[in-house]
Amino acid sequence: MPITTLDELFEHNLKDIYGAEQRLLESLDEMAGEATDREAKKMFQQHKKETQGQIKRLEKVFKTLGMKAEAQPCPGMEGLIKEKKSFSKEKPSEDILGFYNLHAAQKVERYEITAYEGLIEAAQHMGMDEAVDLLQQNLDEEERALDLLKQLASDYEVEQEEGEETGQEEDEEEKAPATSGGRKR
Ligand code: FE
Ligand code: ZN
Ligand code: FE
Repeated sequence: MPITTLDELFEHNLKDIYGAEQRLLESLDEMAGEATDREAKKMFQQHKKETQGQIKRLEKVFKTLGMKAEAQPCPGMEGLIKEKKSFSKEKPSEDILGFYNLHAAQKVERYEITAYEGLIEAAQHMGMDEAVDLLQQNLDEEERALDLLKQLASDYEVEQEEGEETGQEEDEEEKAPATSGGRKR
């Protein structure tokens, strides 16, 4: 169906984020399960609970439109989740996967933030105050989640393997005849 009005666009995007939030629940569980860092695990579990609340708020937004809540598959969220899953298949160490996930989750939050900003702008144009208020609550939670993830990532300690901390040792080894040509950085 052609989308030519702001309320049609709003409806489209609302179904999309409703699908995205539902899709994300499972992924947050997965990342909580993969986290070895206690604070990160707590964060993912906490954000899963928040996400369940966000889904409820979106259902209220549908209600303000006089509609039944309806999800649409969100290819954007699907892609972010797919990317994360394919990294897990590269057999990263627990440590590295934990660090990777903190950034994969930030990508998700940024995606959601932009989705909510777009919905809020459309709702404001249409004078839908109640919807604006509900969507703003979701946006605030996503922004807090992003800040927390940034903090967790910058505090994260990744174990470095011997010899990988500086390039120096490797350079010396590469000069030695025994390993010449044998090793790539
Ligand atoms: Fe969310
Ligand atoms: Zn989408
Ligand atoms: Fe989120």
